[in-house]
Amino acid sequence: MESLPVMESFYTIQGEGFHQGKAAYFIRLGGCDVGCHWCDVPESWPIDKHPKQTIEKLANDAYSSGTKLVVVTGGEPLMHNLDGLTEALHKRGLKTNIETSGAHPLSGKWDWICLSPKKFKAPLKEVFDVADELKVIVYNKSDLEWSQKQASQVNDSCLLYLQPEWSKKQDSTELIVEFVKKNPNWQISIQSHKYIDVP
Ligand code: SF4
Repeated sequence: MESLPVMESFYTIQGEGFHQGKAAYFIRLGGCDVGCHWCDVPESWPIDKHPKQTIEKLANDAYSSGTKLVVVTGGEPLMHNLDGLTEALHKRGLKTNIETSGAHPLSGKWDWICLSPKKFKAPLKEVFDVADELKVIVYNKSDLEWSQKQASQVNDSCLLYLQPEWSKKQDSTELIVEFVKKNPNWQISIQSHKYIDVP
């Protein structure tokens, strides 16, 4: 039976981006080869260190939580083929969202794709083409200019978010506020789950 390496799974509130504030069941898959130096989940990086779970168990656990929405994240979830997982979730009537750097080929059927591109490994065009939301993490000023280059590659209906990197949130938030006032096609996304102290 098909299985995936799972670092953790939990039912909480989505804190970021367009779906901020909604109850959501998170599945954090193991494995990431992007290498962001400010990564807040480096323990997710090894692809072979996390126990595997069958997609049936993952989907059953998500369903049993009472959620309507499942967010698949990582790590970099697209290091795995996710066709089977999204099919199992959809069969149970659950909405499927993914948070990805876009650096690996797209698999799975998604109700919402949040593309969070990273300078360290560029996203593929196929992910830019279908992203519903572009979320750029702002660590320093140069990320603002870089974000415009990323926005020039997405489809016309993609929403644009800038999010302060947590360890630099004070400086980054000031930069983002000024940027969004000058570029109102962008919005700010804050990690609200960290302010209300939920996972
Ligand atoms: Fe960490 Fe995500 Fe960057 Fe991977 S893509 S290194 S999980 S922030």
